[in-house]
Amino acid sequence: MPLVTTKEMFKKAYDGGYAVGAFNVNNMEIVQGITEAAGELESPVILQVSKGARAYANHTYLVKLVEAAVEENPKIPIALHLDHGDTFELCKSCIDGGFTSVMIDASSKSFEDNIALTKQVVEYAHDKGVVVEAELGTLAGIEDEVVVESGKEAYTRPEEVEEFVDKTGCDSLAIAIGTSHGAYKFTADQCTRNADGILVPPPLRFDVLEECIKRLPGFPIVLHGSSSVPQEFVKMVNQYGGNMPDAVGIPEEQLRQAAKLAVCKINIDSDIRLAMTGNIRKYFAEHPDHFDPRQYLKPARQAVKDMVAHKIVHVLGSDGKA
Ligand SMILES: [Zn+2]
Repeated sequence: MPLVTTKEMFKKAYDGGYAVGAFNVNNMEIVQGITEAAGELESPVILQVSKGARAYANHTYLVKLVEAAVEENPKIPIALHLDHGDTFELCKSCIDGGFTSVMIDASSKSFEDNIALTKQVVEYAHDKGVVVEAELGTLAGIEDEVVVESGKEAYTRPEEVEEFVDKTGCDSLAIAIGTSHGAYKFTADQCTRNADGILVPPPLRFDVLEECIKRLPGFPIVLHGSSSVPQEFVKMVNQYGGNMPDAVGIPEEQLRQAAKLAVCKINIDSDIRLAMTGNIRKYFAEHPDHFDPRQYLKPARQAVKDMVAHKIVHVLGSDGKA
């Protein structure tokens, strides 16, 4: 099948009590790792491109890589999504350039300005058969060019969601309930430590999520910043010459719980970076004489595939839902 929008995906996910993974792509190995896992597990999948990825790899290369993945995996629905579009022009360029879904993130603006810009993107996108994700509330952390200092984040205010969706016509809504961008989601003083000395983050605000669901029945909710920062990869990075103290993510069981509710899209980026970097560091340490990029990118791609397969089965619940 050709690239699809997320409309049908989200409807099935909402009704079926699972979520679709939205994984960030920057190069061929990442695209292959993700889609090989999704293809084998017969799972729908969203490949998303950030402004930074587009600056790194170039729009055309990324679209063509995703088109190749679609051709190689004809049985699963794949959507191509712009992550954190911050202007109308950027969204328009992706809509005109083959994306099936865009996010307009005007969450740092006032409520009124967020509505106005989102509505402008929705009108253009819907005309072209493209769907739009919007955001209310602000996540902490760093994602490419989106930087929000700790303490400046704000949970979504459930009393605003109906008016926002109503006035903008957006197709899905990203909300802030305590997830955070990057591999350092929480400072040590926001957390407790477990017996192994690993940070344990504060739990997600399911009360905020449930209040949003009550006000938007049947409407797909999106969670950003939802890597779990697997400690096996952090350990691997640190063991082989890296230095990532106190990298910590969102516990997988909380994401699983959200996926069973109205959360239809869960964004994962840092876990891909960690899986690749940990395995490349390990490879270099074990094979100091190797210099062929295929030698170290092969295990890195396999690590992405294994990690994504784990998410599909144990976190998202989207296996067999293609
Ligand atoms: Zn995000």
